[in-house]
Amino acid sequence: MKKLVFADGHLHTNPVKGMGIKVIAKKFAELGGWFVVLVSLPPHHLGLDNTFEGYVKAIDILVNECKLSRELGLRAVCLAGVHPAAIEDEVSKDVKHSVEILEKVFKVLNYIAKAVREGLVDGFGEVGRPHYKASPEAFVINSIVTRYTLTLARDLDVPVHLHLEQGGELTAIDIEDYVKLLGLNRLRVILHHVDVVTARASQAKKLMFTVPGKYQVLREIFKILKPEYMIESDFIDDPKRPGVSSYPWNIVENQLKLLNENIVDSEYLYKVNIDTVVKVYNVNPP
Ligand SMILES: [Zn+2]
Repeated sequence: MKKLVFADGHLHTNPVKGMGIKVIAKKFAELGGWFVVLVSLPPHHLGLDNTFEGYVKAIDILVNECKLSRELGLRAVCLAGVHPAAIEDEVSKDVKHSVEILEKVFKVLNYIAKAVREGLVDGFGEVGRPHYKASPEAFVINSIVTRYTLTLARDLDVPVHLHLEQGGELTAIDIEDYVKLLGLNRLRVILHHVDVVTARASQAKKLMFTVPGKYQVLREIFKILKPEYMIESDFIDDPKRPGVSSYPWNIVENQLKLLNENIVDSEYLYKVNIDTVVKVYNVNPP
């Protein structure tokens, strides 16, 4: 029997306040982890201001974490973006300057596009819409930012992780519209952290997505979906907020538990953890 290996389709590491990739990569690899998608944290998580300069420093930290994870033997994809919650946070404090906030976000996204062209970063993430009721101004900024980022991702032919509202079929309809209108590669647009209903609707439209690797979610999803998606921890590496998301090793433990309970077979797990990853991110299999 082939050895099972595991991918984490979306996580954040925080070498300033949390464990950082050095600790995380070691623990994840010990359990068979081979691949990670490292996504940038908003500057304020790293003790920086959410200014353009703060974003540049946060991206530097991300690039370094990616480099370290590769040195530690993991295959890593490195995504940078402007989180919708960070935009909401800024707009709620200073709604009169909404347009200036939008212009700063454009500047950050253009900086990320440059980093992509230089080979420092592999794509965009996360951008998108909040999953809670937002201020109208923040909502429209996030909508403009989503469209702008998708256009950049299309032109550079790189992946983008979208943070969305979990609107089930409505969310899938909207993202499929974007894909068609902007002429995007369906494999490069990843709906991140979707719930079971949105996952099902997305798969029906052949959209790519990641699901949180929680036991109950996987238990349900393994029974109803084809293995054409990825599992993520969405770990935020914040010691002050333990349990907000899973640890990368938890998603491995949950898959192994469900394998032992015969809810899923190893063939399915190979497909989710290797085949889909190879197809979406153009990486060599382990
Ligand atoms: Zn995230």
